[in-house]
Amino acid sequence: MEQRTKLLIGGSWTEGHDRFETINPATEEVIARVEEAGPAEVDAAVRSAREAFDNPAWRDMDVHRRAELLWRLADLVEQNLPAIARVETEDNGKPLFESSKVDIPFVVANLRYYAGWADKLAGEVIPVSGPFLNYTRREPLGVVGAIVPWNFPLNLASWKVAPALACGNTVVLKPAEETPLTALLLGELALEAGFPPGVLNVIPGRGRVTGQALVEHPGVDKISFTGSTETGRIVMETAARTLKKISLELGGKSPHVVFADADLEAAVRGVITGIFYGKGEVCAAGSRLFVEESIREEFLARLAARAAKTTIGDPMEATTRLGPLVSKAQYERVLAYIESGVSEGARLLAGGKAATVEGRGYFVEATVFDEVTPDMRIAREEIFGPVLAALPFEDFDDAIAQANDTVYGLASGVWTRDVAKAHQFAAAVKAGTVWVNTYNRYDPGSPFGGFKSSGFGRDLGRQALEEYTQTKSVWVSLQ
Ligand code: NDP
Repeated sequence: MEQRTKLLIGGSWTEGHDRFETINPATEEVIARVEEAGPAEVDAAVRSAREAFDNPAWRDMDVHRRAELLWRLADLVEQNLPAIARVETEDNGKPLFESSKVDIPFVVANLRYYAGWADKLAGEVIPVSGPFLNYTRREPLGVVGAIVPWNFPLNLASWKVAPALACGNTVVLKPAEETPLTALLLGELALEAGFPPGVLNVIPGRGRVTGQALVEHPGVDKISFTGSTETGRIVMETAARTLKKISLELGGKSPHVVFADADLEAAVRGVITGIFYGKGEVCAAGSRLFVEESIREEFLARLAARAAKTTIGDPMEATTRLGPLVSKAQYERVLAYIESGVSEGARLLAGGKAATVEGRGYFVEATVFDEVTPDMRIAREEIFGPVLAALPFEDFDDAIAQANDTVYGLASGVWTRDVAKAHQFAAAVKAGTVWVNTYNRYDPGSPFGGFKSSGFGRDLGRQALEEYTQTKSVWVSLQ
């Protein structure tokens, strides 16, 4: 599979107004120079998506055929999985273990899941007064602008592209500047799968240039965005000018609560993956840990010992579990948070330092802080790195109060053998996802999204179909 570096617009690979470099964060070397879409190219992409939307080749395509195309795209991603996983790892720094065993297989499963929905988007017949037949149609929105971040580049792209296409929309996909490569591979494979030109356009570029132009464009019907809360706010303000529909999946500071009656070994493992999977660059990372007092000391000692063993290394090595952060900027940001934790008086139990592999790369050790207080920055702000903040709690009510003491509400975790306590927690916590005796579980069928400042709208599951369709009510006189 050839690595394209141009823009995919209307089925052709075209030049942008500028170029930017994408860097391998493990080696600090340039992997590729990628074309950037400026306002003129964004306009061309949106126009081609509009033409494709109005073209009978897509608009009137048999729904079973649409399902087949998505399924075919899934097959092509699967056939090319090892190569795609390597590109993802080079571009993002995540261990190959994660790209090849989790992230890219999820893309395949997700495409197949939404292939399954393409021919099942039924409306309903509604009983109404009078001699009328009233029924609803689920219709696509039109042109969807999908803006995705760098932490799960292809995976998150698929969360938007798969349901949008299954519902009959066309898509303009803007990957993050740090990680544009696998989105371009997806564009190539979509052409090979047989999607008509213009149905999926891929336009890399910087957020403030390409992303901004896409959100401003009056020809875009909907923006589906995943990224930081700060940028989400800008997207919402900008989209308001043209009254675009939007869905936002934003940041988090997810609480992870361990009660004394939990299976402690399993809980330690869960807390470790909850914060160190994906280098902690995960919107749902369990970054605030609450451990019940009676087991606190023992639990934190076991946790710190395990954190210290988290293998930093070349992300291409099968044994590596912690790769470099995505970029120099992110590495500096995370190190500044670690410094703030130390200066504000938290106690380092593990990690806390930058690292390199063969003298290079933006690596940060798996870091655990204890004696964190709720007012510290490391307890309040999304760090987006391998940094865990442990806080004490008194009882169940206090655990809930502290868990909910955040502007965010994306995810949460609880460990207990008490079924009633688990369900009480699930009901009381203000978060879009609750994991009980597990963490970081995802399935294409299960909806994902935020409460509070973590956004609105849902990715995945049947719920995502609501984000990419609109309802039309049809009245037919029976007289
Ligand atoms: P952003 O939220 O800025 O980026 C997400 C996507 O939005 C990227 O494709 C980005 O493009 C694009 N974008 C940026 N500005 C605009 C804009 N004005 N209009 C439209 N699109 C835009 O994340 P950053 O990469 O800047 O990371 C900053 C911090 O955000 C991180 O350190 C992390 O803490 C947090 N973050 C949180 C995420 C989450 O899912 N919760 C995901 C990513 C980051 P481009 O990358 O090309 O600039």
